[in-house]
Amino acid sequence: MKRAVVLGAGGFIAGHLVKRLQRDGYWVRAADIKRHEFFAEMGDEFVVADLRDLNEMKKIITSDIDEVYQLAADMGGAEFVFSGENDAAIMQNSAMINLHVCDLCQKLDIKKVFYSSSACMYPEYNQLDPEKPNCKEDSAYPAAPDSEYGWEKLFSERLFLAYARNHGMHVRIGRFHNIFGPYGTWEGGREKAPAAICRKVAMTNDGGSIEIFGDGKQTRSFLIVDECVEGVIRLMNSDFEGPVNIGSEEMVTINELTDKIIKISGKRIEVRHISGPLGVRGRNSDNTLIQQKLGWKPSRSLYDGLLETYTWVKAQVDKKYS
Ligand code: NAD
Repeated sequence: MKRAVVLGAGGFIAGHLVKRLQRDGYWVRAADIKRHEFFAEMGDEFVVADLRDLNEMKKIITSDIDEVYQLAADMGGAEFVFSGENDAAIMQNSAMINLHVCDLCQKLDIKKVFYSSSACMYPEYNQLDPEKPNCKEDSAYPAAPDSEYGWEKLFSERLFLAYARNHGMHVRIGRFHNIFGPYGTWEGGREKAPAAICRKVAMTNDGGSIEIFGDGKQTRSFLIVDECVEGVIRLMNSDFEGPVNIGSEEMVTINELTDKIIKISGKRIEVRHISGPLGVRGRNSDNTLIQQKLGWKPSRSLYDGLLETYTWVKAQVDKKYS
């Protein structure tokens, strides 16, 4: 039986990953600074620890571990990442965790390590045109991410790749593009656009209105979490190091995303545009490389994912507020 450590398992994507690895027959030690909000059982062992502390990390990444999945990061939605107020914490906290993971895995000779990077590391100058953003993997340089979160991801990609070159670590790097789905943060300020819009719509009566940041013409693609996890597992089982995009190519404007969610709700809801933090003007996954290297790319439709997510968020809203 393979033994895996999943870091950030009190969070959204890693929580789903732990469940999937266990279904695939792994023994899993999960770790996070907090327990998972929705899954009472998480892994064969769950360790609550601050991963910025190397001594804590030493109790989690041990010599009997075969694979490490590093998904812990200080992150959140647009308000958290783009307000500027959290820049130092984002860089310090996430970089510290990544430095410890590399150091320990090298010392314990743990070869297989997954690192979760983000599409936020792509240069802003290639994402100014909402119709034609360029997020090909080889467009990363000259580097010019639009947030410190993106710069930290780029630094840590390079850190893991340096360990691969110098210490023979078998690193796998996925660049996630807007992952969404059930069992994730849906309120409180760190939630992402799909969950936030689902919550707003679920909490609004028929005939009411919701607020959306910006003119809603900025474009993005959104990938349902089970496809993200499938991509991570396929990448780990492949010979390809990455970095590779793990995202959907079904690009929509935020207005289109909102319309789809409103349609699913069956309500009539008006959208009001307000100023707020936005990020780049356009972003879409380019799946040429993942298709070429893994013979696979995500295929579930956005509608399908939104239906599942809205149904789940609505149930949370009903449980909490009615
Ligand atoms: P998440 O916030 O739900 O999960 C991250 C987890 O890391 C949290 O549970 C948090 O408590 C934990 N963490 C942070 N600091 C810690 C510390 N000092 N010690 C222990 N645990 C700590 O986020 P997610 O959406 O599940 O994202 C997982 C990974 O994927 C992150 O690295 C993120 O940057 C990356 N990513 C996510 C998306 C997305 O759309 N969700 C997109 C691109 C990249």
